Amino acid sequence: MRYVKLLVLFTVLNFHVKAQSNLNSEPFSQESIAYVIKNVNVITMTKEKKVIENAMVVIQNNKIASINGAVPNNAKTINGKDKWLIPGLIDMHVHNLASSSPYVMYPTKGPLVNYDTQDLMTLYIANGVTTVFELSARPEHIGQRNEIKRGDVIGPRMALAALIDGKNANMTATNPSDGRQAVRIAKGEQYEFIKVYSNLNEETFKAIIDEAQQQKMKVVGHIPNVYEGKPAKDFFVPHFGLIAHAEELSKQTNDYSEEKAQEFARLAKENGTWLIPNLSNMESIIKQAKSLENIQNLPSFKYVHPLMQSKWITSNSYYGASKELIGYFQKQADFHKLIVKAFKENGVPMVTGTDAGISGIIWGFSLHEELKLLVEAGLTNEEALESATRLGAEWLEIEDKIGTVETGKFADIILLDDNPLENINNTRKISGVFVNGQWIDKDKIDIMLEGIEKWNNANTERYDWKELLNSLQN
Ligand SMILES: [Zn+2]
Repeated sequence: MRYVKLLVLFTVLNFHVKAQSNLNSEPFSQESIAYVIKNVNVITMTKEKKVIENAMVVIQNNKIASINGAVPNNAKTINGKDKWLIPGLIDMHVHNLASSSPYVMYPTKGPLVNYDTQDLMTLYIANGVTTVFELSARPEHIGQRNEIKRGDVIGPRMALAALIDGKNANMTATNPSDGRQAVRIAKGEQYEFIKVYSNLNEETFKAIIDEAQQQKMKVVGHIPNVYEGKPAKDFFVPHFGLIAHAEELSKQTNDYSEEKAQEFARLAKENGTWLIPNLSNMESIIKQAKSLENIQNLPSFKYVHPLMQSKWITSNSYYGASKELIGYFQKQADFHKLIVKAFKENGVPMVTGTDAGISGIIWGFSLHEELKLLVEAGLTNEEALESATRLGAEWLEIEDKIGTVETGKFADIILLDDNPLENINNTRKISGVFVNGQWIDKDKIDIMLEGIEKWNNANTERYDWKELLNSLQN
């Protein structure tokens, strides 16, 4: 029971508990100071796409208390003149580090590596990412969510999907009966979503999705490899709700034509399947394949935990790829842009996701890269923002709580120095972030980031990926 309540408070809800929740009576953090942002331009990101100029926005008790309404006497003022307010961003595809043994090969050994949860979460907050969807959720992530919920850590809301695959996964299923059982276990362990993965066989894939529907859990994931070369209509299974990368589609075919992209989009539309294009990942893979300097020189690389710095450099799975393979990646990347265009034309919703945590994809920072690429692929600035705010909230079914700047929503909002509707790169010009009503201004963000950089520099020697793997084998 305690568990259910906790989920409710944290608003990463599944549909059952939603109706019973009474979020107004129990704000989950201690923050009770009222703030007023004066003279700010509000990009609400509501369906009507309303922009309210020169507005006064009051934040109180974790929520947006009013827009152009009464201001409490004791409210702290934030000057919003010539600034822009947008909803906090949502990354719908992340992999958070968490204290554990890599690959969880020997869970009984306990964690071999301990991470400071705040240092991990700061990267999201510094970038205005206030909600993330963990697509390979483990018990440790539930622990992280609790740390955030208790107020020990400032971090994003976390939605959790339990991953089921045909081999080498936390949950493995090779037949429909085991697949259904895995879904029920995930449900019992309080994960809200199911992620299907590449090595499932066809019958098990279908059974998992069917069982998830019965358990009222939405399904995100990969398209299993067994579908390669088969008709696309076969893998658009009813209730398969969200494709985790455009690459899942490009893997299924050698036909990288506009017609093929249109066919995928039509089938997705008919089946109600949304898409995470995840363009940034493929671009990064191409860069890594060519040179490791392309990762090392990223301005945010210094904020990556030293163990991951070591892994990404010494055990990079892409670096050294053949010319042919790089050519193939490039063809895929080009096709992914056609896919984005086709999905847009067919009115299939797309949500931003970056695969943060994969080599070269740095938590928080990657979301801005994704936004830029989506615009390059043909979305308007507004459509890109929509995919990173309201639409993600809709897919997660928490759109009544976050995703827009509206009275009554949780105060997950970003104050920007310039208008992102004019230039999508302006999402990077962060003046401050409200995370669940807690104000973190640019100065504080910079201090937090500096702290991470310092710690990383001082501890680089202690972490060696290859050594760690060797120690696991002994
Ligand atoms: Zn992933």
